[in-house]
Amino acid sequence: MSASEGDELATLVISLRRHLQRQQRMGVRFVARPGVAAMTPTATENKKAVADKVERVSTNSDRGEVRSLEELRDDIGDCRRCKLHSGRTHVVFGIGNPNAKLMFVGEGPGRDEDLKGEPFVGRAGQLLTDIITKGMGLTRDDVYIANVVKCRPPENRNPEPDEVASCEPFLKKQIELIRPKIIVALGKFAVQALLQSKVPITRLRGNWHTYMGIKLMPTFHPAYLLRNPADKKLVWEDIKKVMKEMQQ
Ligand code: SF4
Repeated sequence: MSASEGDELATLVISLRRHLQRQQRMGVRFVARPGVAAMTPTATENKKAVADKVERVSTNSDRGEVRSLEELRDDIGDCRRCKLHSGRTHVVFGIGNPNAKLMFVGEGPGRDEDLKGEPFVGRAGQLLTDIITKGMGLTRDDVYIANVVKCRPPENRNPEPDEVASCEPFLKKQIELIRPKIIVALGKFAVQALLQSKVPITRLRGNWHTYMGIKLMPTFHPAYLLRNPADKKLVWEDIKKVMKEMQQ
């Protein structure tokens, strides 16, 4: 190797080291092997890629080192574990009583939630608040509210499988720490993601299911109810079942 090639290599190494240090500060903990992305993946390889991604986002929470919601929020940090990080304003972690008996889980933050950093604060959020306060006689502080993914999908599209796979460990840890008696899953996406099911929500809602050993009631998303107010009565039927179960 000539002296100039040696200098060039040294410059490259320094740039690479700086790049990796920047990535590390931003929360990236693993780097994919070169060449893997260049291949056209088969379905099996795609599945493995998703599994690898979960492995690559191994966190303190995965390792059982998180013992409170505050520690979990710290662990998420300025998360860049999936591509949703690029369009978000805030990580929308979740809000409410850390010892809640009842937990609501939606799909992901929308525009208002992204701007405020709090789940269910827009028009659909107001409807959920009405269900909690006027319908159930509780307050938002009595329950816990979170989403399957913590960052807003662009144009409010559904989160993609790799994004759910990257973020789900955080939701699971939240549920493990809160240990609610009942989870109400809001809307088709959240219900199908949690139950790993393709069955339409119209058939799943109103019946008890189980997630992580906890009773789960699927129901329609408040945003759907804003478009289809006639179905509010169906949600009220579901909520009455939830209230009855909570009293037992
Ligand atoms: S959606 Fe979840 S995994 Fe993706 S960047 Fe946000 S917090 Fe991280």
